[in-house]
Amino acid sequence: MSPNTEIKTIDDLVGPGAAPGTVPTDLEQSTGMERLEILGKMEGVDIFDMRPLDSSRLGTLDNPIVVRSAGDEQYNGCTGVPADSHEVIWLTTSRERPIERCPECGSVYKMEYIGPQDHGHDDHGHGHGHDAHGWVEPKTWADLVKPSYW
Ligand SMILES: [Zn+2]
Repeated sequence: MSPNTEIKTIDDLVGPGAAPGTVPTDLEQSTGMERLEILGKMEGVDIFDMRPLDSSRLGTLDNPIVVRSAGDEQYNGCTGVPADSHEVIWLTTSRERPIERCPECGSVYKMEYIGPQDHGHDDHGHGHGHDAHGWVEPKTWADLVKPSYW
């Protein structure tokens, strides 16, 4: 099962569960974002990419540091150029606002969305929160989790 190709809706993040009488594995009992993370790791894809950002150069508006994200939001910890030049500053990029600039060093980051495509979403382009069918774009990871799992 591939996070990028087979998970189309939130329902695909609910597993079949463990067989009766067995102890469930992490994968079997996980749902939502946790399940996506585990499925990603099984494929060698780190869904929650915690590697340091590219600090070999300063990102600019014309040539930003590209940060790949499988989610609707990506938090980027900037420590300047070279790395650790300043205290870590967390910048929030999202699919709606992919470009963010560090207020400390001015480096520009741009989120590149690599996650599953939403049905009908790309047909309507980006930049607005809902489409003609009433679908509302999730704002946070929590919005991707069914209310029944809270
Ligand atoms: Zn910075």
